[in-house]
Amino acid sequence: MLKNNHDLYEEAKQYIPGGVNSPVRAFQAVGCDPIFIRKAQGAHLFAEDGRHYIDYIASWGPMLLGHGAHIINEAIEAHIKDGISYGLPSWIEVEVAKRIVEAYPGVDEVRMVNSGTEATMSAIRLARGYTRKDKIIKFEGCYHGHSDGLLVSSGSGALTFGVPTSPGVPEDVVKNTLVATYNDLDSVKALIDANPDAIAGLIVEPVCGNMGVVSPEPGFLEGLRELCTKHSIVLIFDEVITGFRISYEGAAGYYGIVPDLACFGKIIGAGFPVGAYGGKKEIMACVSPSGPVYQAGTLSGNPLAMQAGKVMLDYLKHNPAVYDLIEEKGAYLQAHFQKILDANRLPFTLVRNHSLMTLFFMDSVPHDFKEVQRCDTKKYAKYFKGMLERGILLAPSQFEAMFISSALTKNDMDVTIQAFKEVMEEFRV
Ligand SMILES: *Cc1c(COP(=O)(O)O)cnc(C)c1O
Repeated sequence: MLKNNHDLYEEAKQYIPGGVNSPVRAFQAVGCDPIFIRKAQGAHLFAEDGRHYIDYIASWGPMLLGHGAHIINEAIEAHIKDGISYGLPSWIEVEVAKRIVEAYPGVDEVRMVNSGTEATMSAIRLARGYTRKDKIIKFEGCYHGHSDGLLVSSGSGALTFGVPTSPGVPEDVVKNTLVATYNDLDSVKALIDANPDAIAGLIVEPVCGNMGVVSPEPGFLEGLRELCTKHSIVLIFDEVITGFRISYEGAAGYYGIVPDLACFGKIIGAGFPVGAYGGKKEIMACVSPSGPVYQAGTLSGNPLAMQAGKVMLDYLKHNPAVYDLIEEKGAYLQAHFQKILDANRLPFTLVRNHSLMTLFFMDSVPHDFKEVQRCDTKKYAKYFKGMLERGILLAPSQFEAMFISSALTKNDMDVTIQAFKEVMEEFRV
C-alpha cells in the first residue's frame, strides 16, 4: 500500500530526532521533507509514496555498482545460513584484509571497524600513540566523521547546518585540532612552525567530497607528503569516499602519493556498515593486541559484511573496465550539463573528479572552503527541487557530491540531462 511521505516523516519525528538517523538525510538545506525509501534496484530508488527516482546519492558512496547487484546479493544469501556474527576471528576477515593490503599503496596491515567515523578516529589515536605527540592538523571543509576531535570545521552535514563545531565537544579536546586551508601548503607550514615537535598526524581527504567536489591542486598532496616526512608527522589519507573509487588503488594510487595511514569505508562494505584503517607495519604494530594503542569492536569484521566486501573488491579488481565505464558515464553527463550551461549562459561551475561531480552555484572552480562558501545555496535548493520534481535525486546540499554509479543506463542519463535542461532554462531569466 502506498504511504504519504509527509505523514511518514511526521510519525518518524515522534520517535527519532528529526525523523532521521543521520542529519544529511533530513533535506533541511533544500527545504524538503526527507524521502522514505522502500526499495532500490540498479540506479533507481522506489519511495514509500510510490514515486520513483534516479539515484545520484548511491548511499553516499557504497553503491558504486548500483543497488541490488547480483554478485553481492548472492554472496550474502550464500552465507547468511552460516551465522551472522561470531565475536571470534573468521577467515573471511583475512580475505578482505589481504585484498586491501594488495590493492593500496603503503598499507601493510589493516584493522576492520564498523564505520568511516571509527576508522578516522582510530587512525588519529594511533598516530598519537605512535608519535607520542598530541596535536593533529585537519583541513577546513574536510569531513572525517563525527568523532569529537575531528568535528571542527568539517564539511557536508555540519557545514550545511552552519554549526562547524558541535555543542558537546569540549574545547579541551578540540584544542589539539589545528585547522589548515585545503590546497594551501603555506597554511600547513605555518601551523607546523607554530607547533614545533607537537604534531602527531595530518588527516586529509585526498580528493575532497564533503564541501562539494574540490580536487587537489598539482603539488598539494606531494607537498603534504614532504612536510609530513620532514617533521615526523603521520600522513593520513581519509579515503572513505575515494578508496576503490578514484581508482582501485584509491586516490593514493591515482596521484602517486603514499600516505602513512589510510582510512576506508563505504565501498569496502558494499552497503554494510564497514570501515577500516591501515598503513605501515611499524605504525600498525602499535595497535592492540600487538601494541599498546587500544581499539576494539564487538561487530568489527562482521562475516556477512566481509563476504559482501570481498565480492565487491574482487569484482573491481577483475573488471578494471568498470572504472572506464563509470568514467565514460561521468564524462557524458558532464559534457551535456556543460553544453546546457553554456547554451543558457549560466555562470555556474561544474567540477568532476572521476565518479564525483558537483555543480557549484558560483562562477569559478573552488579550491578551498572559503571559496566554496561563495556559492548561492538558495539557487542550489531551487536546482535540487527542480530535479527532484522530475524524478532525479541529487545530494540535498550544495556541499556534497553527485555519485555516479556503473548501474546508470544511457536512458537514465538522458532522462537526467533532459531534466537538467528544463531546470537550467528556469534559471535563465
Ligand atoms: C562518510 C565519510 C566519513 C564517515 O564515515 P561514516 O561511515 O559515515 O562514519 C569519513 N570520512 C569521509 C571522507 C567520508 O566521506
